[in-house]
Amino acid sequence: MTTDLPVADRWFKAKPAGLGVTMLTEPYVEFFFQSNVWHVRGRDRDLVVDTGNGIGDLRGELRPFTEIRPVVAVVTHGHFDHVGGLHAFDERVCHRLEAADVGDPFPLPAFRADYPDWFELEIRQYGYEVPETTVRAWPPGGFDRGRFGARPSTPTRLVEEADLIELGDRVFEVLHLPGHTAGSIGLWEEATGVLFSGDTVYVVDALEVSDKEAFAGSLRRLRELPVEVVHAGHNASFGRPELHRLIDSELARLDT
Ligand SMILES: [Zn+2]
Ligand SMILES: [Zn+2]
Repeated sequence: MTTDLPVADRWFKAKPAGLGVTMLTEPYVEFFFQSNVWHVRGRDRDLVVDTGNGIGDLRGELRPFTEIRPVVAVVTHGHFDHVGGLHAFDERVCHRLEAADVGDPFPLPAFRADYPDWFELEIRQYGYEVPETTVRAWPPGGFDRGRFGARPSTPTRLVEEADLIELGDRVFEVLHLPGHTAGSIGLWEEATGVLFSGDTVYVVDALEVSDKEAFAGSLRRLRELPVEVVHAGHNASFGRPELHRLIDSELARLDT
């Protein structure tokens, strides 16, 4: 078993994404498990969209911003790679249909030896090799093998379609986008055309879908929005032409 990995200086990599949005990623996590965390600066409070795998200290990473303003953390759905760091925030938001998963996320193990069979299978189904370790470096400050990835979180607010997340000078509307999971949500800022899409749409070949019909409906709905930029749950951000291309190819795949 490989344990002689280097220790990372800093767990998250931050990159400006325009309009007061910062993208945070976990570069030492194996690619299959990597997800995006988004920080949005507001006048009265900040917004965090999704919270990564819970391996490194996201709350600590954001402290320079959040010492100034309170922060509300919203998860787009309850998958382990999005809810991992949620527990450390004072305001924890998800759709009511995701509360059970947020409260009991899959505890991503550090070592392949501890992966359940279904998990190995899922990685292979996506076309990836199963890695021996989940990360390529250990997080700073050490870790506990028995408590590595996502921790359970209790939401402080459950949201529904059309609820608002207010930051003072900016406001995000909750879009209920069932399909990837029953309670998947997007956050939509009408004033700027910024959409946080979670796992409903991102640049990848094949998405995991729990309800095809609902998923197709959610995609058609996103196609009607005057979107300028999509900040997704995984991989790079993109504009409206790419959004339409992804939606059209996904709708075609769902029909087969
Ligand atoms: Zn997901
Ligand atoms: Zn995801």
